[in-house]
Amino acid sequence: MSKFERPRIFRPPSEWMSYYLPLTSGCSNNTCTFCYYYGSRLQMRDVNEIKEEIDALRLFKDKRIAVPGMPHMVYQLANQWDGRRIFLQDGDALVYPFPKLLEVLDYLNERFPNLERIAVYATAQDILRRSVDELKQLSQRKLSILYIGLESGDNEVLQQVGKNTTAEEMIAAAHRVHDAGLTLSVMVILGLGGVDGSVQHAEASGKVLSKMDPEYAAALTLTVVPGTPMHALIERCDFVPISPFQSLHELRIIVEHLDVTHCFFSSMHASNYLTLRGTLPADRQKMLAQIDKVLQKKDPSMLRPEGLRGL
Ligand code: SF4
Repeated sequence: MSKFERPRIFRPPSEWMSYYLPLTSGCSNNTCTFCYYYGSRLQMRDVNEIKEEIDALRLFKDKRIAVPGMPHMVYQLANQWDGRRIFLQDGDALVYPFPKLLEVLDYLNERFPNLERIAVYATAQDILRRSVDELKQLSQRKLSILYIGLESGDNEVLQQVGKNTTAEEMIAAAHRVHDAGLTLSVMVILGLGGVDGSVQHAEASGKVLSKMDPEYAAALTLTVVPGTPMHALIERCDFVPISPFQSLHELRIIVEHLDVTHCFFSSMHASNYLTLRGTLPADRQKMLAQIDKVLQKKDPSMLRPEGLRGL
């Protein structure tokens, strides 16, 4: 087996306090044309290696002793970790073989009995592969929040960007997560339909998000990663990216269309031009007014500068 390569950290803003524990590296669906993981090789980490890292973390938290040979990153993360939350890396760590996933979760709970929650990125396929009962077994072990990238509610866009999932599968996966009593957080990407598909992408995303009815939803803005097919399309002028203000139009359409039970919606990710947060449906008018104010003034200084945007 080739040596496991510790992945770069990409995490939702709400996981900034978590300890990032890699179970996999890469993503099982490495075909999304805009994504950093495009063409990545999925690696499964050996369970014993994961347990060794958990042991090293426990030892460091208890006695400040560092185990020789353990990656420096472990201690960098441990130094700022408050012991409450764990985020399982990588792009869709729910793909990790189920019995081994349970073994890791049991070990984490045994070594850190005071953990509040464990989180993971998951694809719709990862979720639909598991029964409600299996998902409940995860929640019993504190893996209680799943982050899913819907990216777009428009099947045409999903197909164009190589997501290998349909909006209908996303909705089915969301229902399964709800049935298992897990918390769902869903991400959409502003600008993924380009200029031509902008309105259709935003309207469909709002509608599908509503059917998924997540507890949390977040908008990110397309950030072009050099070396990806999306980057090449833009270079060839075969995909015209939306402008920063157009991204706010999309944000507005999504907020307007969101018909959800109770959802904390935000655009706090570093890729966005405008930071917005609020609970829907209660804060809808307030959030729309905030977007409208920026759209009316069209003052670029009200937006996050391009150089400060991040993945
Ligand atoms: S499924 Fe998600 S993490 Fe994987 S390649 Fe697509 S966008 Fe990237």
